[in-house]
Amino acid sequence: MKLARFARIRIAHAPTPLEPMQRLTQLLGGPNLWIKRDDCTGLATGGNKTRKLEFLMADALEHGADTVITQGATQSNHARQTAAIAARLGLQCHLILEDRTGYRHDDYRRSGNVFLDQLFGARLSDAAGGTDMDAAMARLAERLRSEGRKPYVIPGGGSNAIGALGYVTCALELVDQANDRELDIDTLVTATGSAGTQAGLVAGLEGARAGIPVLGIGVRAPKAPQEDKVFRLAEQTADLLGVPGAIRRDAVDANCDYVGAGYGVPTPGMIEAVTLLARSEGILLDPVYSGKGMAGLIDLIRQGRWRKGQNVVFLHTGGAVGLYGYLHAMPAA
Ligand SMILES: *Cc1c(COP(=O)(O)O)cnc(C)c1O
Repeated sequence: MKLARFARIRIAHAPTPLEPMQRLTQLLGGPNLWIKRDDCTGLATGGNKTRKLEFLMADALEHGADTVITQGATQSNHARQTAAIAARLGLQCHLILEDRTGYRHDDYRRSGNVFLDQLFGARLSDAAGGTDMDAAMARLAERLRSEGRKPYVIPGGGSNAIGALGYVTCALELVDQANDRELDIDTLVTATGSAGTQAGLVAGLEGARAGIPVLGIGVRAPKAPQEDKVFRLAEQTADLLGVPGAIRRDAVDANCDYVGAGYGVPTPGMIEAVTLLARSEGILLDPVYSGKGMAGLIDLIRQGRWRKGQNVVFLHTGGAVGLYGYLHAMPAA
């Protein structure tokens, strides 16, 4: 797999640390728990969209773009990181934010990621829940083109094959770190939403024959459509990398039992996970993704999915800025 032939701008602070979580391991009494700190990628408080944007923004520049358009939920971490990198590259940034939760709380609508989007100078527009967001971006791109601008459209979550290359780099980085410290990883666990993160990890790990299974914990869709989405994108990513057919269908595993009432809607398990990581490890998770991902991991440990002595790595995908959009839902507030 040759990554060097893809245009890339270097923005991520990488390699991100791979750290043991000793107190959490002890508290749960299960496998050894490790954390891969992709919340520390350095771009505007970090997160998993940084690695994707290294390839997506390079592609935008190659296409001569002077403007980027993307979309996400009101408290989208992807929107915030896109706004930040656009500012750094001197590009205009348009964000279409979908009201997926219906929350009217001031913190949800104005603080957290929304506040930072505006600080980075992005132009925001709102869309009702259920809007066809791809169509909305296409309409906006058309309008901007008619005004003489050169827009580049980034899909929600930065999840296409180009964006997923960012998580191929993460997969290879993790394999190196594990080999360096002779760590035999039994499972890599990550939150999965728009699928680019898991698809890139699977493409990288399968392509490298690393023998590290990935478990996605879903935050929106049910299991069957989520796995289909991850698999399709992993295949497209493998095609782009020049290793077609490298992805086995059974390498794609998503557990979508921890979504709760819906995307972005808090669950008791999420609140427990956010609180537990804060108090045992001093680590901030987020309410929409990593909190639910960790809630799934904790529950599966309690169910005995892994033995003592096995090694489980949690990919921390970032998002803690979103906590400030959810003050109304968190017990400490
Ligand atoms: C976007 C996001 C995810 C999910 O990644 P996908 O590539 O969309 O599946 C997980 N965690 C955080 C904090 C995110 O912002």
